[in-house]
Amino acid sequence: MIDFEYSLPVVVVGGGACGCIAALAARDAGAEVLLVEADERPMGTTGMSMGLICAAGTQAQRAKGIADTAQSLYDDIMAKTKGLADPGIARLLADESGPTLDWMTQRLGLPWELDLGFKPAYGLSTYRMHGWHGHAGQDMVDLLHQRLDDEGVMVMLGARLQEIHADSDGTVRGITLARRDGSLEHVGCEALILASGGFAGNHAMVAQHIPVMAQARNNGHEGNDGTAVRLGQRLGAGVGDMGAYQGYAMLTDPQGISVVPGVIVDGGILVNAQGERFCDESEDIAGMVHPVMAQGGPCWVIYDERIAAAQAYTPDMQALASLNAARRGEDASALATAIDVPGEALAEALADAAHAKASGQPDRMGRRWDDASPPQGPLLALKVVGAIYHTQGGLLIDGAARVLREDGTPFPNLFAGGGAARSVSGPAHWGYLPAMGLCTAVTLGRRAGLSAAQRAMQG
Ligand SMILES: Cc1cc2nc3c(=O)[nH]c(=O)nc-3n(C[C@H](O)[C@H](O)[C@H](O)COP(=O)(O)OP(=O)(O)OC[C@H]3O[C@@H](n4cnc5c(N)ncnc54)[C@H](O)[C@@H]3O)c2cc1C
Repeated sequence: MIDFEYSLPVVVVGGGACGCIAALAARDAGAEVLLVEADERPMGTTGMSMGLICAAGTQAQRAKGIADTAQSLYDDIMAKTKGLADPGIARLLADESGPTLDWMTQRLGLPWELDLGFKPAYGLSTYRMHGWHGHAGQDMVDLLHQRLDDEGVMVMLGARLQEIHADSDGTVRGITLARRDGSLEHVGCEALILASGGFAGNHAMVAQHIPVMAQARNNGHEGNDGTAVRLGQRLGAGVGDMGAYQGYAMLTDPQGISVVPGVIVDGGILVNAQGERFCDESEDIAGMVHPVMAQGGPCWVIYDERIAAAQAYTPDMQALASLNAARRGEDASALATAIDVPGEALAEALADAAHAKASGQPDRMGRRWDDASPPQGPLLALKVVGAIYHTQGGLLIDGAARVLREDGTPFPNLFAGGGAARSVSGPAHWGYLPAMGLCTAVTLGRRAGLSAAQRAMQG
């Protein structure tokens, strides 16, 4: 066995939401913790995100008069995934997302509140979006790292996990880290948490597990290179739902900023270069990427001033506004000229949606307009392409966030969460519920941190 230069009770790999929350939870439980992060400036996919966290039964929901239960979130997960999500992980997330969010706000003083601007949609049956008003992912990462500092968690930046050292029975003894200058460092630990994200940044792994997205643009953090899955599998860990991912249909071209889902939820529509709609935009937040990519070129999100005003509080829409990214037109014909699509087709698409709204019937795409109104009056348009944002398959874990072998037996002191672990999106793209990425990052992160601390303090 390798000689470790020093040893810590709990080592966490990855400085995104999952790793930070895991480290803070382990520290809160009394363990000494080291967090290692490959980048010099922590960011991760968390830093690129909108920073919204799905959680059920929170104090923040009650404060705004929203009654919600763990069972309701569990039911939503199972309905969205056609019963194919891992029931154990679904139960863990449903039961612990609320207490985790409450712990984040109350114990860590993080300013997350219920976001009423993102209405229940895409499979969520009630208001569950929690965000930091006016802030997005990188602010979240910076604040979490501030808390790590406040709470006395040691953080090593520019240190990449290269190897995990374990006994033949799977007990992890330590890790090897590669530093930027090429030197290696061997660090012992009593418990190891893998929070190094998924594999959307690893082209070969995407091509292997999600061939349909092999040619798609990756809009996640490139550090999501599959480290956890690859090193875990080398130890004999099992993986699950490797074909699951969140695609996203509304990455602006050329700005590379996401149009927030609320633009669609509030009534926006998508048209192609022919000015025609091609899908029910409200059906699936992740799956919509496929009809968009099938158009063979950029598409347009069409919305109006009312929708723009309702979503203007979001950092992404603010960024797009500051870049003057949207094209404008006083009516369908003027907008069609501005975006170079046939005016008649665009007018017809809007008229069909308006007629459906007035009649209470679904429109030609099957979209129901009960809770939203189609764009009208002066119109805006943003050019968008489809992309893969993050993967949802990963290491098998149990209810204590312990990594499991293929036969279902747990590794004694190896834990995982967030993009590194199997999530609850079922086997493909259509099972992703809004803000489940950060829900799994923080909820599994906290569970992994508590379990690792308990294991480490057992000695
Ligand atoms: C544009 C965009 C918007 C999104 N918006 C939302 C949203 O609003 N709500 C939501 O729920 N989800 C959202 N997501 C998804 C969400 O961001 C992710 O699911 C979540 O951030 C995953 O967190 P994580 O901590 O597991 O991974 P990450 O945040 O990616 O952190 C992993 C960290 O591990 C580091 N790392 C990797 N390999 C190593 C190694 N070998 N050694 C050391 N460190 C390593 C990486 O550098 C990285 O910092 C969004 C995604 C994108 C792309």
